[in-house]
Amino acid sequence: MLVDDFMKKLFTYLSVTFEYELIREKRTHMMIQVKPDRSVVVTAPLDTKDEKIDAFLQRKLRWILKHRRHFEKFKPEIPKEYISGEIFRYLGQEYQLLVQGATDKECVFLQGDKLVVSSWRPQSSLYTRKLLDAWYGQEGARVFAEQLQLCAMRFKLPHVPKLAIRSMTSRHGSYSPRTKRVCLNLKLIKLDLALIDYIIIHELCHITCHGHNQDFYDLLESYLPDWKRLERNLRDSALSG
Ligand SMILES: [Zn+2]
Repeated sequence: MLVDDFMKKLFTYLSVTFEYELIREKRTHMMIQVKPDRSVVVTAPLDTKDEKIDAFLQRKLRWILKHRRHFEKFKPEIPKEYISGEIFRYLGQEYQLLVQGATDKECVFLQGDKLVVSSWRPQSSLYTRKLLDAWYGQEGARVFAEQLQLCAMRFKLPHVPKLAIRSMTSRHGSYSPRTKRVCLNLKLIKLDLALIDYIIIHELCHITCHGHNQDFYDLLESYLPDWKRLERNLRDSALSG
C-alpha cells in the first residue's frame, strides 16, 4: 500500500466519540472500514476537506456503529498458555496441541488433528512457545515462498519478487515499489491457502497500481473474480493471537 498521508483523528458527534485512522491517497471517493478490532479507517481523496470527512462520517454513523457492535460480540482471544489441549490454527485448519517429552531430537509436526511438540522441556510453556513460534516461522517461509512463486507465474513476471515475512498487528501485507519486495504477515500462516493467495495477489497488483483506485480493483478482479468473497472471509477470520 502506498500511503501519501496517514494520521489518527478524533470524531465526535452528540454522545458518540471514536478515534479513526485517516488515509489520504489518490482516489475518487471516500471509503470507511471497520476492522475486527473495532478500529475505524477512512480513506479519502488527497484534497478532501476535514469538514467533508466529518459530514461523511456523520452520514455513515449508523453503519459504523452497527459494525462496531458486531465486532464487539467477538470476545478477544484468550492468551494462549501453550499447554496440551489448546487449539492452534494452521492453513485454515484447527489442531489440538499435544506437548510430549522428546526422547531423541526435538520437533514439531502435524499428526491427524494434533499439532505435536516433542520437547526436551515439555513442562515449560515458555519453551513450548519458542518451539512453536520457530515452527510457524519455518512453515511461513516455506508456504509463502511457494505461493508467491505460483502467484507470480500468473502475473507473468520476469522475476519472482523478493519476500519478507514479519509479525504485524494490523496489516496483512504490503508491497514496496522501492525495494520491489512483498512483505507478508507471519500470522497469515494460520489462514486458508486461498486467503494467503488473495493477499499475495493483492500485493502483486500493487506492482502496476500503487493506490487502491478503480484500476487497481479492475486488475485484482481480472485475477480473482471472487475477491469480494475472499475479503469477507478474511475479515471474518480476525488474525488475533
Ligand atoms: Zn493494498
